[in-house]
Amino acid sequence: MGQKILVTGGTGYIGSHTVVELQQAGYEVVIIDNLSNSNDGVLDGIEAITGIRPAFVEGDCTDIETLRRLFADHKGIKGIINFAASKAVGESVQKPLLYYRNNLNTLINLLELMPEYGVEGIVFSSSCTVYGEPDRNPIDETAPIKPATSPYGNTKQISEEIITDYVASGAPIKSIILRYFNPIGAHSSALIGELPNGVPNNLVPYLTQTAAGIRKELTVFGDDYDTPDGSCIRDYIDVVDLAKAHVTAMKRMLSETGTDSIEVFNLGTGRGLSVLELISAFESATDVKVPLRIGPRRAGDIEKIWAAPAKANETLGWKAMVPIKETMRNAWAWQCRISGK
Ligand code: NAD
Ligand code: UDP
Repeated sequence: MGQKILVTGGTGYIGSHTVVELQQAGYEVVIIDNLSNSNDGVLDGIEAITGIRPAFVEGDCTDIETLRRLFADHKGIKGIINFAASKAVGESVQKPLLYYRNNLNTLINLLELMPEYGVEGIVFSSSCTVYGEPDRNPIDETAPIKPATSPYGNTKQISEEIITDYVASGAPIKSIILRYFNPIGAHSSALIGELPNGVPNNLVPYLTQTAAGIRKELTVFGDDYDTPDGSCIRDYIDVVDLAKAHVTAMKRMLSETGTDSIEVFNLGTGRGLSVLELISAFESATDVKVPLRIGPRRAGDIEKIWAAPAKANETLGWKAMVPIKETMRNAWAWQCRISGK
């Protein structure tokens, strides 16, 4: 067995895909998840893909005693990937304390216990939202951090600061902070994918649900932006590509060779796609037409943002590989599976 890794939030969307890639790379995985936004059926999917059922602890990372028990029961954990967080931007505006408590207490508990249990490093899920509306694109890791526009976004900024301050204090740990652009798609087996709760806020689940007839039409939020076709631009990254980046980050962080104690990487493709371009990629990849209408702008939306991923490409030796149409086909196959089509 390879090194033991704790994956918090490991039955969630990005976590489950990452557990698959970690196991396929030979790591031994322990998951902790409180199932607040996922279910334990995901473990069956992971097992069906990899042939290995990861160790699973149903528990809440905001409870430090639960984490202590976990580290005592699963001795020898070398690294942590911390996905566990609440992530709905709109809800975070309504319930800010829930977001600060969940996202920050989870991180603080993990950091506090790492030296005690000999855990060497933590990979943290951050987001390109820390850049706000960028002054220029593509955006690299040296770009300024802009004031957060939601409590959720603020938890990511504060989390980055907490990790930075803790490492600077001389704590015997390393950390890699990964700033994700827009993760989309599903595993090519259609055995795991994204399980949105209620009406999706994000573009791709709304799009696939509309294509499946669950929603009447997809609303494009604004076609009067300063972009070539007037709709907003994002850097959509395949979730399996994203999962693989965590494996390379973990390998680097736990390697002996003098890497910095804290590193930050943008994870994106380097390609900006507009909302209308993404819809058209879906339609041509799947031959399914999506009923749509152009609606007003969504409050708080960023006009355009895409990544300069050179640092991740060169330093991690990782590159986004999956073509967008394949990502769209996988997203559709997953939607068909969960809606029984
Ligand atoms: P997700 O909701 O699918 O997964 C998060 C998992 O964490 C869920 O299974 C949930 O049940 C669990 N969880 C939440 N709080 C917990 C707690 N206190 N204790 C134990 N488990 C807990 O979300 P995701 O899309 O997979 O996101 C994973 C991480 O990546 C999050 O930190 C998120 O903020 C970050 N991120 C996501 C995106 C995106 O677009 N999906 C973009 C940037 C960053
Ligand atoms: N979007 C849209 N219709 C929807 C959902 C999203 O036009 O029903 C647009 C949204 O305005 C943004 C892009 O799709 O320009 C990506 O939105 P998402 O919420 O998925 O990600 P984020 O805004 O966090 O980058």
